[in-house]
Amino acid sequence: MSQEPTIHVMPPELAERIAAGEVVERPASVVKELVENSLDAGARAISVEVRAGGLALIRVNDDGRGMSRADAPLALARFATSKVHSPGDLEAITTLGFRGEALSSIAAVARLTILTRVAGELEGTRVEVEGSMPLASAQDTSQTGNGGAADGVPQPAASPIGTSVTVRDLFYNTPARRKFLKSPTRETELVRDTLVRYALAYPDIAFRLVVDGRERLIAPPASSLERIGLCLGREVAAEMLEIEWSAGDLRVGGFISRPTIGRSRRQGQFFFLNGRPIRSGLLAVMLERPYAGRLPVGRYPLAVVNIALDPRLVDVNVHPRKAEVRLAQERAVYQALTGAVVEALSPFPKQEALFPLGGAGWAGWPFDETVQELREGQAAYVVAGGAQSLGQVLNTYLVARTIEGLVVVDQHAAHEQVLYERLSASAEPHLLASPERLSLTAREAEMLRPALILLADLGFEIEPFGGDSFLVRAIPAPLADQSPAELLATLIDELRRLRDRDTEAIREGVAMKAACAAAVKAGDYLTEEEQQTLIDDLMLTWSPATCPHGRPAFITLTREELERRFLRR
Ligand code: ADP
Ligand code: MG
Repeated sequence: MSQEPTIHVMPPELAERIAAGEVVERPASVVKELVENSLDAGARAISVEVRAGGLALIRVNDDGRGMSRADAPLALARFATSKVHSPGDLEAITTLGFRGEALSSIAAVARLTILTRVAGELEGTRVEVEGSMPLASAQDTSQTGNGGAADGVPQPAASPIGTSVTVRDLFYNTPARRKFLKSPTRETELVRDTLVRYALAYPDIAFRLVVDGRERLIAPPASSLERIGLCLGREVAAEMLEIEWSAGDLRVGGFISRPTIGRSRRQGQFFFLNGRPIRSGLLAVMLERPYAGRLPVGRYPLAVVNIALDPRLVDVNVHPRKAEVRLAQERAVYQALTGAVVEALSPFPKQEALFPLGGAGWAGWPFDETVQELREGQAAYVVAGGAQSLGQVLNTYLVARTIEGLVVVDQHAAHEQVLYERLSASAEPHLLASPERLSLTAREAEMLRPALILLADLGFEIEPFGGDSFLVRAIPAPLADQSPAELLATLIDELRRLRDRDTEAIREGVAMKAACAAAVKAGDYLTEEEQQTLIDDLMLTWSPATCPHGRPAFITLTREELERRFLRR
C-alpha cells in the first residue's frame, strides 16, 4: 500500500502569516512601513494615530498621491509594488519601499482598511481586508463588493486626496506574537521613537503623532535645526554644530553636538543614508573618535547626520526587514564622516589631562544596542561591514559574526596589527602621570641615544638625564597601559638587533616589536567588551592594501565556504 505524502504546500493564509512575522514585529514596525509608504507617495504631511500601544489601532494619514480604484486592492497583494519593475531597478533603489510586502504582511496579522483618492478622481476608494489576500482575487476586479465586508473588494467612498491606512487589532490571529510585546506605554514610546527618526530625516515634511486621543508630537515643516530642537530639545539644538563634507558624489551633512553636552548612551545619534534611517556601530565610532579628549569618557555626542550617496553604491536588499544595508564604498563614507566631524570640532581644544586617551578612550561597537533596537522595530537599518563578537575560543581566538558569515580572529596577531597601524600613523604621546627615570648601562644608552628622534615619531617623549640616565615623559597612547621601563628594555634589544639597518627599517622594526610586546597574548582571557573592541579596531585598521606581516590576523568563513564545507553546493 502506497503511503499518502506527509508534505503539503501550505494554504496561502498560513504562508502569509509566517512570512508576515518577518516584517511586522510590533506596532512600531507597522508605523515604520506605513510612514515609508507615505513618504514614497510624496506626502507633505503625515499624521499617525495609535491607541492602546498600537494594538487596538494604528492609523497613518497622508496627503500623498493616493491610489486609484484599480490600484488600491493590488497594493494589498504580496510582492505587489509600483516601485520596482525589473531586476535592474534593484540596482539603484530610490524609494524607501520596494519589496511589495508591507501591506500584505500587515493585512495577514490585522484588520486593515485603506481609504484613498488620487488627484484626478472625484470619488475615493475604500478597501478592507482581514487576513491576507491572494493575488488572484486582488486582480479580479469584476467582483462587486458585498457592502463593506472585509473581502478586499474596492468600494466607492468619500476621501480627501491622499491615503489613510487603518490597522485594527494587530496580531489578533497570532497570540504568540502578542505575548512578546512590551507594555502599551513602551510600545507607544517605540512608535514615537520611530516617528522621530523620520521627522529628523525629513524636516520639510509635517509630522503629527496622536496617542490615545492626545497630541504627542506636532512638527510643522521646518529647518533641520528647528526640527532637531522640536524632537531632541531646544537646549540640544542650541549646542549643535553644522557639519558639511563632500567628495565626488558622496555628501555628508547635518549637525553634531558641541563637546559641551553629551549623553550617557547613544540614543541621541541619528544616521540617514539617502533619507533612510540607518544604524551602524562603525559610523558611531567614526563620529565619536574625534571627541576623544574633548568629551569625558563614557559620554556620547548627539548627532543628526545625512549621508547622500549614489544609490547604485548601496544595496538595500540584503535583509527581509531591510534591517541591513550594504555600502560599496564604506571606507570613503567613514572617512568623509570623520573629516566632517574633525573639521567642526577643530575650534574645541583637546584636554588630554582631563579626559585621558588610550585603551578606554571610547567604548566599542554598540552592537547590543543596535540589536536591541532592531528587535524593538525602531526603524533602523544596519550598515553591514562590522562584526559582532560571539566569544573567545581556547583563550586565543575570537569568533565573530558578520553579514557575510563567520570570522575567526587570532587575538594576538590582530591586536599586534591594530597597535602597529596606530603606531605607524604617528601615535599621540600619552603623558605619564610622573616621568619615569631609566638608568641604563653604557651599552644600552649608546643604542638609545641615536634613536630618540625615531622614537619621538612613534609617540615616545624621552630626554637625556645626565650620564646614562634618561627621563621618559610620555609613551605612545596605544601602548598607554604598558610599563615604560619594560617596554624600553625590549625596544633597546630590538635597536641592537637592527643596528645595521637603515632608519626606515629600524622604525618599522621598532613599531612591530612594540606592537608585539604590548599586544594581548595567546592564552589571555578577554572580556566580552575587550573582544568586541579588538574586533572593531581590527575592522577599522585592516586593509588588504596595507596588511604587512606574515601571519594572517583573521580568516573568514563566508556563506559560500560554509555551504561548500557542508556539501550544500
Ligand atoms: P512597497 O512599499 O514595497 O512597494 P507596500 O506593500 O508597502 O510595498 O505597498 C504596496 C504598494 O501600495 C506601493 O508600491 C504603492 O504603490 C502603494 N501604496 C502603499 N501605501 C501608499 C500610500 N500611502 N500612498 C500611495 N500609494 C501607496
Ligand atoms: Mg512599503
